[in-house]
Amino acid sequence: MRGLRDKHVLITGGAGGIGAVTAERFLEEGSRVVVLDCDAAGIRRIERELPTLSGTIIADVSDAEAVERAFEELDDLLQGLDILINNAGISIRQPFMDITPEQWRRVIEVNLNGMFYVAQQAARRMLAGGGGVILNMGSTNGLMGYPFYADYNASKAGVIELTRSMALELAPTVRVNVVCPGFILTPMQETEYPPQMRRAFERKVPLDRLGRPDEVAALFAFLASDEAGFITGHCHVIDGGEIVGGLASQRQSD
Ligand code: NAP
Repeated sequence: MRGLRDKHVLITGGAGGIGAVTAERFLEEGSRVVVLDCDAAGIRRIERELPTLSGTIIADVSDAEAVERAFEELDDLLQGLDILINNAGISIRQPFMDITPEQWRRVIEVNLNGMFYVAQQAARRMLAGGGGVILNMGSTNGLMGYPFYADYNASKAGVIELTRSMALELAPTVRVNVVCPGFILTPMQETEYPPQMRRAFERKVPLDRLGRPDEVAALFAFLASDEAGFITGHCHVIDGGEIVGGLASQRQSD
């Protein structure tokens, strides 16, 4: 991708799953990458797996003061920020009637408030530095109704609208987009899901498979690059066609 070499990149939730694979992709592109995550063991693992990282930071994105301190650490590590992959997020599978206020608060605090805290700190530096790209992590769950994830769905719908508002206010200096994956098979899920359950998910997808983390990482790399210089404020779905036709997305044999 054009324009990623030597760029300063921060990836939240980068110690595992999609974030870790995205860190690897940006390193391959020649970027200087810092990973932020609340999982201390995961951070130690990623430091071993990706020794060319420019640094790691342990912080909980849902804590505004911790995020402020984390960006002071980032200033020492990178001196300026060009690209933010605002990826950290959690989900709790629970019927709507059983969601506790604590669970609701936690999901919103991490997925929506946390994304805001990190994005605002990043935008401050990008505006001061004269440019930058912010890519927020959404989900197709923010675009459609899905049962058992009311808190998660609401948080991701919020991220999509946050993205649109940021894109308008931060233009023309900073481009802001949101990536909305469908079902992406992370290494952890690959070991956890029994084959039958995995097949049931695959059958909902016109491309007849689940997505891979490296495919999401490739979309992040494109959107962050100069190749995407005229793209801002939009939602970029990567889901194998799962939501494109509503019921019509289900394969005819189903
Ligand atoms: P993952 O494997 O659980 O990785 C997320 C990483 O973020 C973990 O290292 C996690 O640490 C960390 N994290 C969680 N809460 C945090 C916090 N408060 N502060 C800092 N770091 C935190 O998840 P993933 O599947 O790669 O998902 C990454 C993002 O993609 C999320 O925003 C998710 O909603 C979104 N997404 C995923 C899919 C999918 O199918 N996988 C689809 C659509 C969207 P712990 O392990 O300690 O929690």
